[in-house]
Amino acid sequence: MKAIVFVKEVPETPEGVSVSENGQVQAAGGGNFLTDPIDPFAIETALQIKDAKGGEVHAVTAGNSRAEKILKEALAMGVDNSYLVADDALEGSDPNAIARVLAGAAKKIGDYDLLVTGDRAADDNSSIVTAALAQLLDIPVLTFVSEVVDFDADAKKIRVVRTLENGRQVMEATLPAVISVMKGIHEPRYPSLLGIRKASKREVPSWSLADIGVDPSTVGAAGSPTKIRSLDPPPAPSGVEMITGSPEEMAATLVQRIMDKKVL
Ligand SMILES: Cc1cc2nc3c(=O)[nH]c(=O)nc-3n(C[C@H](O)[C@H](O)[C@H](O)COP(=O)(O)OP(=O)(O)OC[C@H]3O[C@@H](n4cnc5c(N)ncnc54)[C@H](O)[C@@H]3O)c2cc1C
Repeated sequence: MKAIVFVKEVPETPEGVSVSENGQVQAAGGGNFLTDPIDPFAIETALQIKDAKGGEVHAVTAGNSRAEKILKEALAMGVDNSYLVADDALEGSDPNAIARVLAGAAKKIGDYDLLVTGDRAADDNSSIVTAALAQLLDIPVLTFVSEVVDFDADAKKIRVVRTLENGRQVMEATLPAVISVMKGIHEPRYPSLLGIRKASKREVPSWSLADIGVDPSTVGAAGSPTKIRSLDPPPAPSGVEMITGSPEEMAATLVQRIMDKKVL
């Protein structure tokens, strides 16, 4: 069994997301970046299949050199190899272009049975990448998977449960296939100290578009037919006070508020 998991780096807070001049969401600004909270569920799904059936799990990110950090986290969780695709020509890419890049990386890794993604990324929330990836590779796609019921690489079959608004749907597809998983499919494992130490010493290969056989004119702003016109954060909930300051100042203010309200 060979699985490839796609992990995305996202800004830690919604304030880290903005719209660029060319009309795309960008994760700019000096804030922190981390693994998209959905993606450890995708990694765990692939690792559980490997634990049960044997095989190998690879992780891939399309990003920049900063994203090496999340690929090392995937290694620490237990994936066998991690790969970064980084290229200046990716600037301005929309989800379709990113799917083209991920498809190129999957082809370079080769001989995959299963591709696993999160059901939607926390910043752009498009849920496009999974389906576009399947179309580009011409393989089946099963989205919003809440359980993998059966996986048989020899018989080339996967059976899953999809959780829908109005119920559950059991679906089967032939392998290779792409699945997108929902939060809660499995509890992601914590990396062990040994895993973290080993991962810190691993090299993460960085591939350019040329390395994965993707034409630069089909990605980036030129290869991205969709544009985001505006992006607004959800309105701040009323009656909520955001406490700011150093940890000590925030703790002191919080204690004061609790005393003022006579909670204690
Ligand atoms: C170098 C670079 C420059 C970019 N520049 C822009 C820009 O200028 N404007 C802009 O709008 N967007 C830009 N993007 C972001 C890119 O368009 C998003 O990754 C893409 O929009 C994915 O959309 P989504 O988050 O809605 O994915 P969804 O379809 O919601 O994501 C579902 C799943 O797909 C997988 N996935 C998604 N993106 C990636 C990824 N990058 N790597 C690995 N797995 C992934 C994950 O498993 C994720 O859980 C850039 C990305 C890169 C790498």
